[in-house]
Amino acid sequence: MRWSRLHTYLGVVSVVGVPLMFFAVLRAPWANLGEPVPTIVGASLLLILGELRPIPISRGADAGDELSISSTIAVAMLFLAAPGVAIAAQSIALIIDEARSRRRWERLLFNISQYTVALMATRVVFADLTGQHVWGRPGDFTPEHLGAALVAAVAFFVLNNGLTGIAVSLATRMPVRRLVQADLRSHFVTDGVLLALSPVVAQAMAWSVVALPLLMVPLVAVHRSARLASQREHEALHDALTGLPNRTSLMLRLSRACTELDTVPVAVMLVDLDHFKEINDTLGHYVGDRLLVDVASRLRGSLRDGDFIARLGGDEFAILAYHTDNDNSALDVAARLRAALESTFELSGADLAAQCSVGIALAPLHGTDEDILLKRADVALYDAKSNRGSAMVYDGSRDEHSLERLGLIADLRRAIDDGEVFPLFQPQCDAATGEIVGVEALARWRHPTAGVLGPDEFIEVAEGAGMLDVLTDSLLDQCLAHLASWHRAGHAVRLSLNISPRTMRDSRFVDRVRESLLAAGVEPHWLTIEVTEHVMVGDAARSLAALDRLRRLGCRIAIDDFGTGYSSMAYLKRLPVDELKIDRSFVEKLGEEPKDEIIVRAVVDLAHRFGLEVTAEGVETEPAWALLTAIGCDVIQGYLLARPLTPEALGAWLDGGHRQHRAAARPILTAL
Ligand code: C2E
Ligand code: CA
Ligand code: CA
Repeated sequence: MRWSRLHTYLGVVSVVGVPLMFFAVLRAPWANLGEPVPTIVGASLLLILGELRPIPISRGADAGDELSISSTIAVAMLFLAAPGVAIAAQSIALIIDEARSRRRWERLLFNISQYTVALMATRVVFADLTGQHVWGRPGDFTPEHLGAALVAAVAFFVLNNGLTGIAVSLATRMPVRRLVQADLRSHFVTDGVLLALSPVVAQAMAWSVVALPLLMVPLVAVHRSARLASQREHEALHDALTGLPNRTSLMLRLSRACTELDTVPVAVMLVDLDHFKEINDTLGHYVGDRLLVDVASRLRGSLRDGDFIARLGGDEFAILAYHTDNDNSALDVAARLRAALESTFELSGADLAAQCSVGIALAPLHGTDEDILLKRADVALYDAKSNRGSAMVYDGSRDEHSLERLGLIADLRRAIDDGEVFPLFQPQCDAATGEIVGVEALARWRHPTAGVLGPDEFIEVAEGAGMLDVLTDSLLDQCLAHLASWHRAGHAVRLSLNISPRTMRDSRFVDRVRESLLAAGVEPHWLTIEVTEHVMVGDAARSLAALDRLRRLGCRIAIDDFGTGYSSMAYLKRLPVDELKIDRSFVEKLGEEPKDEIIVRAVVDLAHRFGLEVTAEGVETEPAWALLTAIGCDVIQGYLLARPLTPEALGAWLDGGHRQHRAAARPILTAL
């Protein structure tokens, strides 16, 4: 519907402009032009040259427009010759340019008409102010005409920009008023300055044709600086890799869209490629970049006319789909985006598949403010991602929870980079001798405002956001570096690291462990990988293979929280393990709850028959410890021995001779 309005507008202008052009050209006194023919021909050539070397001007965030010195010359010619001459020269210039750049013919007709109308109006203003004839050749151009010429140049500026502005407004759905506000300043310094020169150009042409080449000097200078300025503006608003508008552009567009929501509803869509990081990591940045370029062009190609796309950075894109106010039509747009990526990408001889997830917020339904809308689209994107690549519209009923997660996700990315996520170490000792045999690493996040967060508050979030691998890598490196330093200090302790099932299924994990051990100079048998029985849920074969590889590498494997799963016994048979950790829930009430004692006895016995070591965790009391020792449990871990300690505190603790310690609980985390 909008498009027909644009076409109607282009049609109306053309219907007025084209006949006007023929009329003006035919009315011109071609036999007696007034000015010498070489001057007219020279000026016309200059005009054509200017048209062929235009300056791209940005209008708003993405729609482009061009400006050239040809307008200056055309307006100057109006002051010296009949309007038909300037209009003829301008039209010829446009036709040559059209033949070269192959624009659409309706655009050529519109451009010719637009210039004809603007030039004729300029001529009318000038003739009126100087008392001259409108159609014929004017009198001599003298200094008294300067004022009238300037006013006429202003008329040209307003009409010419006004006529194209309306077309841009109809094409981009941006209101004219906003366009004017956004662009007036930049247009003033470019075509305003150039047009102000037109009386000077006219004077020079009237003086001598020889002056024309001289005039080129200031014109070219203005031309060049205007070109540089607009290039810089373009760079500030566009992404260098894909050429799409960037985040700044998006924010400009979106804040504008937010002021027009009562007439034009908008769907804000965030698009994120699935598994892009893997492609980047395995095939390199060069392939990654080329994939992004191809993805960008496919996404752009799948948009409706008038919709807007920007690249936010990385593998994230944003789309504004105008006139979209309900779930169904937004999901249609999303389906088209996703379909555009369906066929594989041929890059460097390989066929790559790229899928995307889409999160959608509808304005004004879900918000009328750009920040809220983007946040809500991000919440929807998060839901779409956890749904394994789909498109989701923001669901207000899940809001609070999601927003909270969202805040954490945004922070977590930065936190991992800034080293805010770090391990604490809880000592483990030999049940019989009290000798410290190992430590378990427990992740913490020292959040700048929320304080120190425990793993329950962020591990799952990291997993959902696909950041678990980064987090685990960081912890692994930190842990092994500390372990190496304790070994250097003469403390022969092992280290246990908790690994989520998702990480276990990541084919690169075992290599990461190997690399990290090598880098820290730690032998593999000092490292125990703790997994829960959940590792067998999902792709069990893959997890088993990884556990086997870890074991062959020389690492120890422990089953954590043993006894809480549904079929712990069955896993004992299948998993390659060295250690069982009896879950805290059975240890807590040991000594009070006879049934727990029966279970613990059975588990210890079972484990020993399998040749496994048994650790009891959550030991808080002396009687529990005594009972566990009597039962034959090998290793004790719990608050009774020590709470999780910072690496510094643990180092001091070990140095301080706590190796034979059965001490009461230490004051926790004094270092935090
Ligand atoms: P978990 O592996 O069972 O770790 C033991 C948890 O029990 C720790 O809580 C520890 O602080 C706590 N604990 C230790 N002794 C006692 C005690 O005597 N009494 C009581 N009431 N609690 C005790 P935390 O540090 O909050 O860790 C919770 C869970 O988060 C861990 O359970 C583990 O499953 C997970 N986790 C911790 N660090 C990581 C990590 O780096 N990666 C992954 N994937 N998961 C981790
Ligand atoms: Ca554990
Ligand atoms: Ca545990």
